[in-house]
Amino acid sequence: MTALQPETTATQPDVSVDEQGPGLVGVHESIATLLASRGQWRQAYQHLRSALDLVHADQAEEPHVPEQLRREVELLRREHAEAREQSLRDSLTDSYNRRYLDQRLMDLLAEHGACRHGLAIALIDLDWFKQVNDTFGHLLGDRVLQRVVELLQQGLPEDAFCARYGGEEFVLVLPRVDAFSSVEVVEAARERVERHPWQEIAPGLRVTVSAGLAYEPPAHEAPKRPAVSAEQQLLRADSLLYTAKQSGRNAVAYRADGRVRLAGAASGRRAIAETRVLGYY
Ligand code: GH3
Ligand code: MG
Ligand code: MG
Repeated sequence: MTALQPETTATQPDVSVDEQGPGLVGVHESIATLLASRGQWRQAYQHLRSALDLVHADQAEEPHVPEQLRREVELLRREHAEAREQSLRDSLTDSYNRRYLDQRLMDLLAEHGACRHGLAIALIDLDWFKQVNDTFGHLLGDRVLQRVVELLQQGLPEDAFCARYGGEEFVLVLPRVDAFSSVEVVEAARERVERHPWQEIAPGLRVTVSAGLAYEPPAHEAPKRPAVSAEQQLLRADSLLYTAKQSGRNAVAYRADGRVRLAGAASGRRAIAETRVLGYY
């Protein structure tokens, strides 16, 4: 084992910079250079940080960070950020994945109590998608999923995002919205999918989606309402999605004034009985 191995040098001795002498910064830099030349970027970065910490503690000493190391560390950071972003994306559609959805929803609901705005979650499911696969093939089905995500994401408000919930189901999360605009946004997304020229992809192809939209009002509007978990919110959306499907599909179901309603074009359909009522609305 040599004195330059990262395991032994990464720890800072508990002495002041003066006591350590100005050479310690140089030692950290040399070790970082050595590690970087071996491709051990993470350890190199730690030593670079140690060198910078020492320099900050003793402004008299000018940092000397080799330019190549600086670039390599910067590259490492970018790669790390990209890898992290990729781990939160769905590989087929490039929408966010379930992991991202779960994390963000938990955060959003945690801060919701103090928020002046509502939070809406729409669970969106492709209609008769099995038939699309059966008729046009699985590969075309994949392309349809990609296109649907593009359409769902178009014109979303700032902060809103689309995540793949699983299979042919997606979730639109709309933070900081009011009830009325959440219905407008989701109904507009449904309409974009319906109106898309699908026959350009394959003659006879038609694609629609159904959505269940669960809206959580701001705490000041419903002070007695108990806090809701991400799971409950998704269950509510799922229950409303079921209603939209039962009503004939290609519809957005939501709740207003204690009743389930269908948005836009579907609002004229005969209201259907609620089969699943979950928790407090
Ligand atoms: P409904 O209107 O009731 O939702 O009918 P549906 O046919 O859409 O529902 P069902 O649950 O019967 O079928 C869903 C289909 O979605 C079956 C499955 O093969 C397909 N699917 C799920 N994930 C993918 C995928 O990544 N690519 C493709 N091509 N198909 C997928
Ligand atoms: Mg489904
Ligand atoms: Mg479906």
